[in-house]
Amino acid sequence: MEPDAVVVGTGPNGLAAAVTLGRAGLKVALYEARKTIGGGLRTEPIFDPEIEHDICSAVHPMAVVSPFFRQFDLASRGVKMLRPSVSYAHPLHNGLAGLAYRDLETTCAHLGPDGERWRRLMQPLLDHSQALVDFVLSGQRSLPRNLSAPALLVSRMLAHGTALAPRRFSTEVARSLLTGVAAHTVGKLPSLASSAVAMLLGHLAHGSGWPIPEGGSARIADALARDITARGGAFHTDHLVTNLDELPRAKLVLLDIGPETFTQIAAERLPAGYRRSLARFRYGPAAAKVDFLVSEPIPWANPAVGQAATVHLGGTQDEMFRAETATAAGIRPEKPFVLLVDPASSDPSRAKPGRRPVWAYAHVPNGDAADPTAMVTACIERYAPGFTDTVVHRRGISGAAYQAYNPNYVGGDIGAGAMTLWQSLMRPVPRVDPYRTPLTGVYLCSASTPPGPSVHGMSGYLAALSALRREFGIRTPPDLGPR
Ligand SMILES: Cc1cc2nc3c(=O)[nH]c(=O)nc-3n(C[C@H](O)[C@H](O)[C@H](O)COP(=O)(O)OP(=O)(O)OC[C@H]3O[C@@H](n4cnc5c(N)ncnc54)[C@H](O)[C@@H]3O)c2cc1C
Repeated sequence: MEPDAVVVGTGPNGLAAAVTLGRAGLKVALYEARKTIGGGLRTEPIFDPEIEHDICSAVHPMAVVSPFFRQFDLASRGVKMLRPSVSYAHPLHNGLAGLAYRDLETTCAHLGPDGERWRRLMQPLLDHSQALVDFVLSGQRSLPRNLSAPALLVSRMLAHGTALAPRRFSTEVARSLLTGVAAHTVGKLPSLASSAVAMLLGHLAHGSGWPIPEGGSARIADALARDITARGGAFHTDHLVTNLDELPRAKLVLLDIGPETFTQIAAERLPAGYRRSLARFRYGPAAAKVDFLVSEPIPWANPAVGQAATVHLGGTQDEMFRAETATAAGIRPEKPFVLLVDPASSDPSRAKPGRRPVWAYAHVPNGDAADPTAMVTACIERYAPGFTDTVVHRRGISGAAYQAYNPNYVGGDIGAGAMTLWQSLMRPVPRVDPYRTPLTGVYLCSASTPPGPSVHGMSGYLAALSALRREFGIRTPPDLGPR
């Protein structure tokens, strides 16, 4: 039987789209280039059959708060989110370290003279948390009736996303603690877009936290896949789609792919104007990752850092501003920003005696083909003397190699498109409905559409709702809850 809908790509957005379409009663067929499903949600052994590594995403502040996942309810589907008591840490030189405790009061006490300023920044965001999350994770095409959350966000973006940012705190610990979160945008610092990300992720650190799924990120993909197959959805893996014509005939096609691949697989079918708009889409810097198998917990110079699963290794605010701005301009800095995840620090099931997984990636210029292994290892060693001696195995993946792994990460840009203010709103082209394409029944649903990167499922969900409305006249969003 022919499917009603085809989804190409099985990252969190493709899976969220398929869940939504399946819940609306459609028969869905999914096509995936790789042998396993999941996109950025894969967890696999690399060096040792008993130790699984997150190949891409590992930490999931958005997967517990996004409107899609709130309805889908991962917890009731057996996905246990473990919430470290320190959401993220930022070691500095001389054993100093910033620590973002889940508990805001503890964080403020730890920040000393900047504690009150941190509270004044974060508490109002926490008070408006759900409205703020819903605003940022919407399709960003309309303003909510209550403008308190957007107004709060914009005031903080202006205060922390401009050249005045260094004046907001008096200590280097507080300055670098916030800037490390802004660096998740992977682009020029300071900037309005990175400041928005710092507010969103920064306040969640003191709310629902920065959780990691017990057993790894693939548990999220597994839960989504179970829902899809329970409603008759069928997966076709190891199938790289190279032309839309090779797909079975279906009323709907949802593409969890970027503009570049779309231009290739739609071939001559796209109108020239839309193709030109897609060609204007810009990619940001790359991530160059190293997977480690280590023999013991990381020997941080400041042992409190080990309470966090997520660690920002970027040095001072000024060092991060310089490194990120150079990287965005295509220059590889001597000491790039490095983001490290140590899942076993919060999930003991990830470790076996003498063996633990750790991953860390550096921000490097788009397309950078250099092996990052030595550079990333040296960076960790700076803040954790003796780390190198604990490394049993390691494997580097350059920015350029990431594109070979997943064509959505063009030049190694794991954000699937530069996160400038303009591109975070107008992804991939400026359109009222950014998911709809000029081809009848064909929709884009990847992180190259609003609200952009991260595991929240919202691009897939919103694209599916748009498609259901236009192609099937279904205006009421289907129930996504576990039944
Ligand atoms: C190293 C790394 C670390 C990250 N860490 C985090 C994190 O900790 N937390 C977080 O929230 N996010 C993180 N991210 C980002 C997150 O993984 C992505 O934003 C998210 O996965 C994007 O989802 P997606 O569904 O749009 O696309 P993807 O997850 O990229 O999935 C796209 C899928 O489509 C498939 N595909 C592409 N082209 C074709 C084709 N032509 N035919 C068939 N299949 C195709 C790909 O193989 C892939 O499986 C990280 C990403 C990377 C790479």
